[in-house]
This record gives sequence, structure tokens and C-alpha cells, in this order.
Amino acid sequence: QAKRLGKDRHAVYDEHLHEQTVEYQRTEAALRNALDEQRLAVYFQPIVDLADDHVVGFEALVRLRDETGRIVTADRFIAVAEQSGLIVPIGTWVLQESCRTIAALRHRTGRPLTVAVNLAAQQASRADLADTVLHALGDTGLPTEALTLELTESALLEADDATLEQLVRLSELGVVIGLDDFGTGYSSLTYLRRFPVSHLKVDRSFVSGMTSDSGDSTIVRAVVRLASDLGLEWIAEGVETSEQRRELAAMGPGYAQGYLFSRPVPADQLPGLLDRGCELGHRPLDAGPLGR
Ligand code: C2E
Ligand code: MG
Ligand code: MG
Ligand code: MG
Repeated sequence: QAKRLGKDRHAVYDEHLHEQTVEYQRTEAALRNALDEQRLAVYFQPIVDLADDHVVGFEALVRLRDETGRIVTADRFIAVAEQSGLIVPIGTWVLQESCRTIAALRHRTGRPLTVAVNLAAQQASRADLADTVLHALGDTGLPTEALTLELTESALLEADDATLEQLVRLSELGVVIGLDDFGTGYSSLTYLRRFPVSHLKVDRSFVSGMTSDSGDSTIVRAVVRLASDLGLEWIAEGVETSEQRRELAAMGPGYAQGYLFSRPVPADQLPGLLDRGCELGHRPLDAGPLGR
């Protein structure tokens, strides 16, 4: 009896594994096709100053347009992009496209807007990282200080001395290094001193619980406090309600990003978004006034 049960369990497990493999292969093929057929896109989500809601810059987020024209968000394919190595050519393209878009927007508006580009561990550990970044900047005319590279704690954890050297070189040239999803990884705090990090992003998982869960609220406060004590800037991600916005703004000078202000939008919507301002932007999850 026990043996039979065990066997069935194996069968269920194998079937599950098989489904996962099929799903992985399907996503990888879709990603490869999208890359070949130029069906990737970069969307931009505004980052606002909590003091007055003005847009200081954007985070660049990769999107895939499927065969039917539907937009697929990064969380659906980024893990496969990383595992398959496709993140390297995709990342280089995103970097170039992001720098180009924001350089043009700065030119058009005369505003000192910045852009944050996510960097996977695999991209960060490449010997040509600094050259790739400097090439994108040189090609598009975006000043170094207008570009932020967002790395996660786990990417930093994997980083060796050669990677560190490249990040230091970029940082000395003015490129900003940000630590993404702060608090969710295993980074020891000594990384904050070893790497030329200049801002922390408070992970959405803590922000979304901060007004209902005292544990989350404590973590948000601790990260904000840590950032300011170390002389770093902080950005709260995933801000969806005006209550979260209010509590964050009360924690001192900082920045925020989230659906409350705007969803990520395609490049052609950026001039309109800047004209309108995020205060007047659509807030699908909380339509209340910001009440300053
Ligand atoms: P991330 O860097 O932490 O980016 C924030 C994610 O949260 C984005 O998902 C964004 O659309 C979503 N988001 C923003 N505001 C809100 C909000 O108020 N509520 C909710 N529920 N979600 C919000 P997305 O675009 O699906 O990206 C997921 C992750 O994929 C990113 O997390 C980043 O780690 C990675 N990623 C995205 N684009 C790139 C890229 O070009 N290169 C690399 N290497 N990774 C990327
Ligand atoms: Mg990010
Ligand atoms: Mg993040
Ligand atoms: Mg995140």
C-alpha cells in the first residue's frame, strides 16, 4: 500500500516537473521570437519626490508584445530570461532603448530626468559591463548621472572583485547604483559599504503591508532609517494608496513609485504624463485626494 502511494506521488511529481519544463521551453521560445522579431518594449514608471509629488525620473521595465499584440509584464518571463542567458542581449537592448528615450525626453522638456535600469546578476558579472553601459550613454548622449543601475541584493552577493571594480568605475564616472527589493535578500549590511550604492528601494512586499501590519511598518521604518543614517536615498516601491504615501512622506525626505502615481507606461505617453503631473494621474486602486 505504502509503496503504491509512493509511486503515485512520484508520478504526480514527474508530471508536475514535466509541465514546468514545457512551460519553461514555451516561454524561452516566445522570448527568442520576440527578440528576433523586435517585439520587446520598454515601459517607464515615474518615480516621484514624496515632498511634492513631482516626477524626478523613471524606472525602465521590459515588456514583451505577444503575437496577438498583448503586452506581457516582466514578472512573467524575467526568470526564464535569466536562466536561459537571454537576459544579456535583452538587457543591452533595454539599456540602449532606455537611455535613448530619456535623453530625448530631457531634451524635449529641459528637465533633469533620470532613468533606472534593472541589471541582472549575469549582466553585472560580465567583463564588458562598464563598456556596454558607457557605450549606451555615449551613443544616446545621456549624461552618466542621469542613469541608475538597479541591482538586487542577490546580484551583489554573487559579485566578485572584478564586478565590484566595474561598478566602482561606473560610479566614479557618475552612474548611480541602487539596491533593488531591499530587505528581501540575504545581503549582509557590509555590502552597503563595500559597494558604491547610493540608494535603497524598499521592497513592495513591505510597503503593501505597512498600513495594516505592524511588522511590515517596522521594516519600512528600519530601512528608511538605515538609508538616511548611511547618507543614502530611499525609494518606496509599490505605493498604491494615499495612506501609504502619507505615512512614507512623514518618514522624511524620500521618493516613491507605484500605481498610486502611475502604472508603467510606453515611451510615447511620457510627455503627456509629465504635462499632467502624477498628482492628476489615474489611480486605479485609490481614487481619493492626496490630501496635503
Ligand atoms: P522590480 O525592479 O522590483 O520592478 C517593480 C515591479 O513592480 C514591476 O513589475 C512593476 O510593474 C511592478 N509595480 C510597480 N508599481 C506597482 C504597484 O503599485 N503595485 C504592484 N502590484 N506592482 C507594481 P514588472 O515590470 O513585471 O517587473 C518585475 C521584475 O522583473 C522587476 O522587479 C525586475 O526585477 C525585473 N525586470 C523588469 N524589467 C527588467 C529588465 O529590463 N532587466 C532585468 N534584468 N530585470 C527586469
Ligand atoms: Mg527595479
Ligand atoms: Mg524593485
Ligand atoms: Mg520588486
